[in-house]
Amino acid sequence: MRDLSNDSRLLAINSATVKTWTLEQLVDGCARAGISAIAPWRDIVQAAGLQKAGKLIRDAQIDVSCLCRGGMFPAADAAGRQTVLDDNKRAVDEAAAIGARCLVLIAGGLPKGSKDLGGAHAQVRDGLAALLPYARAAGVPLAIEPLHPMYAADRACVNTLAHATDLCDELGEGLGIAYDVYHVWWDPDLAAQTQRAGKRIITYHVCDWLVPTKDLLLDRGMPGDGVIDLRHIRAMVEATGYSGLIDVEIFSAQDWWKRDPDEVLRTCLKRHRTVV
Ligand code: ZN
Repeated sequence: MRDLSNDSRLLAINSATVKTWTLEQLVDGCARAGISAIAPWRDIVQAAGLQKAGKLIRDAQIDVSCLCRGGMFPAADAAGRQTVLDDNKRAVDEAAAIGARCLVLIAGGLPKGSKDLGGAHAQVRDGLAALLPYARAAGVPLAIEPLHPMYAADRACVNTLAHATDLCDELGEGLGIAYDVYHVWWDPDLAAQTQRAGKRIITYHVCDWLVPTKDLLLDRGMPGDGVIDLRHIRAMVEATGYSGLIDVEIFSAQDWWKRDPDEVLRTCLKRHRTVV
């Protein structure tokens, strides 16, 4: 297991953690805090403009652990699926333009009015299969992120590491897993499934599970403030050979998003060194 006690190089700040910042502010803020990697969402990359975003990141020599996010595959009809595929191709282009190590994808949920969960699963598999040749040609690895099952209906019907690993096995090269502790920590089969996922884990996200959780989407905790055994899980992930960056991704409308972003970054770095 890697020693993070003096580390700042393995920490990547996810732009969702400092929601009010533009890409430029994120890059500058990380420089001020002595942090050398980011994980932007597509909105701030698009707002900056693709060429400008790429130049900004290259000039600052900042590492990009992943671009968040594409996916959301299930749709009600063929036209809807084509729209999704086109948008995901744009996401691949964006990831390539900023030198992201991978593009994170979430599955998507049930199409409006549908109760066909099996059909949604099949659409996710087919959507990934349709996108993969484009991503391989662009040299952008895709990372499917299983989300906590509370999001199965509206955000992601891939909810376990086991399901994500099955998809990787079926679809082959170019598809890996975004391993987010917030979404998988509860799984009684986590140790075995982490080991099985192995080298397919290509990006790693941390935050914490607060008790009580006041909002299903926007009340994630700073690492160390909740009940996830972060050290234990990181040890399991790194035992598979994972040597990549560690993204701090916190959606926190009532707490961290209201604080001074520079303070948030300093706290992220401190927790990265002490509890992650
Ligand atoms: Zn995540």
